[in-house]
Amino acid sequence: MNSSLTIMSKNPTEAGSASNQPPPPPTSAPLSRYESQKRRDWNTFGQYLKNQRPPVSLSQCNCNHVLEFLRYLDQFGKTKVHLHGCVFFGQPDPPGPCTCPLRQAWGSLDALIGRLRAAYEEHGGSPESNPFGNGAIRVYLREVKECQSKARGIPYKKKKKKKIMHPLKGARHDHELIRNSKMSV
Ligand SMILES: [Zn+2]
Repeated sequence: MNSSLTIMSKNPTEAGSASNQPPPPPTSAPLSRYESQKRRDWNTFGQYLKNQRPPVSLSQCNCNHVLEFLRYLDQFGKTKVHLHGCVFFGQPDPPGPCTCPLRQAWGSLDALIGRLRAAYEEHGGSPESNPFGNGAIRVYLREVKECQSKARGIPYKKKKKKKIMHPLKGARHDHELIRNSKMSV
């Protein structure tokens, strides 16, 4: 009967003695890169819902909020996605700058949705109502992938980058050689 009381009273003293020691490094609760990224993503999404007017609670959250969140993240993107009118449309390695917008790369969004989908269920959400597993999200991600693969000219399956790079470098070398030979003559 008293055993539970002694355990209860023991805990604070243990905590007190622990506080005398230097705080243990985070190795005591190691988080993998995936886990810490997932936690950050989840906090970011929670903050996004709170910042809505009016704020959206997690139970109200549906796939439309998730889609809006993904579009909102595009402003922080670092991937150049060329518009149809751009001269570099379809070029994997444009030779100059252009005014096309920066977006979140499809692969980043896909990985983000996977992490948030897991986090949602870890925070008590049911798999049936998981807005991150909604078909509308899959459709959106597929559209982003197709759009970006066309705009950047990256086939995603085969990489021709090296084959394109070498002839250009060779041509530049030839020019230099010609110029040098003219100079010396
Ligand atoms: Zn462009």
